[in-house]
Amino acid sequence: MSEQTFVIVGASLAGAKAAEELRERGFDGRVVLIGSEVERPYERPPLSKDYLQGSSERDKVYVHAESFYEEREIELMTGTKVEAIDPGAAKVTLDGERELQFDRLLLATGAEPRALEVPGAELGGIFYLRTVGDCDALRERFSDGGHVAVVGAGWIGSEVAASARQGGLEVTLIDPLRLPNERVFGEEVGAFYRDTHAAHGVQLLLGQGVEAFEGDGAVARVRTSAGTTVDCDFVVVGIGVAPRVGLAERAGLDVDNGVLVDERLRSSADNVFAAGDVANHQHPFYGRRIRVEHWANALNQGPAAARAMLGDDAAYERLPYFFSDQYDVGMEYSGYVADWDEVVFRGDRDGGEFIAFWLSGGRVIAGMNVNVWDVTDQIQALIRSRRQVDTGALADPDTSLQSLSGEGDRD
Ligand code: NAP
Repeated sequence: MSEQTFVIVGASLAGAKAAEELRERGFDGRVVLIGSEVERPYERPPLSKDYLQGSSERDKVYVHAESFYEEREIELMTGTKVEAIDPGAAKVTLDGERELQFDRLLLATGAEPRALEVPGAELGGIFYLRTVGDCDALRERFSDGGHVAVVGAGWIGSEVAASARQGGLEVTLIDPLRLPNERVFGEEVGAFYRDTHAAHGVQLLLGQGVEAFEGDGAVARVRTSAGTTVDCDFVVVGIGVAPRVGLAERAGLDVDNGVLVDERLRSSADNVFAAGDVANHQHPFYGRRIRVEHWANALNQGPAAARAMLGDDAAYERLPYFFSDQYDVGMEYSGYVADWDEVVFRGDRDGGEFIAFWLSGGRVIAGMNVNVWDVTDQIQALIRSRRQVDTGALADPDTSLQSLSGEGDRD
């Protein structure tokens, strides 16, 4: 039996999947999984979708059954804060000044919502959505109905707006950008989502930020930078997150937009690894660091970090992937894009069943299938192939994606 202790800081999806992987790979030393929340590890996608809508129940959000941790001899310490990490002395200090020695440590501390600091930010009735506790409070507020002003038309804002409309609430969606998720989607796909929200009765106030929240004790109005005033019963703010790097910084690890990790998810300290939202990872396919704030990254990077902690030499090289469900529009997105030359569509754009491809230098760098399924592997193969594609063929549903990526060549 191993004498080693592996400590995981962050009882999140990444942390819980890492603990599971350690046991799956036969590690029989101590596994300690520490989280500051009182909940056992849970997944976040339902918190802005079905669980928020009240169409699924609490037991569906958890990563594992309650008995899992005891059965696998994973010491799950919920409601416990790690105060400090000392990589040199290989120990963590927990709240109450308890200390714990470790042989390897995984940081899976995630990210926290950015606060909107405008006059009136302290008023009641302003919700943020990150934890399952936040979601419970919002779910309860949804059940009272009324008019919600959603600030931020990113992922949280878009999904919350859709869930609120599906629950029969009146919704105003406000964002300083001109289109939902404009930085990710660009013009045409952003316009598709704008029109989808509008068709479902969302009032969109785009190209304007929030100047102030107003009300007497509780928020009753939002004033925008365009001088528009929106009366509302409550507000949801989703204006992005910041990686939770305080512990890593105080531990002396290299930090720059997250904890800097190499291809194998190892930090600047040999015995410390990082995974999930907090990890700024040297991605072998992109040849640069990327930090990905999505569910699939936590799901897959946690176990990859666990394998690296056990000495596995494989790099983490999955392409970024995420999904979103809004109204009757489901989508999956693969790839990573900072800027691009053009977007090519295949399928029925007006009917909302299409694939969009983002191209740079004639190569596909990202792809998103909307209400079209079972094409993720093909889209990812096309991205990985780095092949120049003919845009006419790419737009033509009769040309197989395999033939464009060269996969068809091997048939
Ligand atoms: P987000 O996707 O980064 O979107 C934030 C949006 O708020 C952006 O459009 C941003 O515009 C805008 N914004 C920034 N400052 C603002 C201000 N002062 N007033 C109004 N709008 C402002 O972040 P999020 O929606 O808060 O989501 C939080 C995290 O959860 C993200 O990591 C996200 O990826 C994740 N998440 C993912 C999914 C999914 O994968 N389906 C679903 C929900 C949440 P700028 O770009 O100009 O800053």
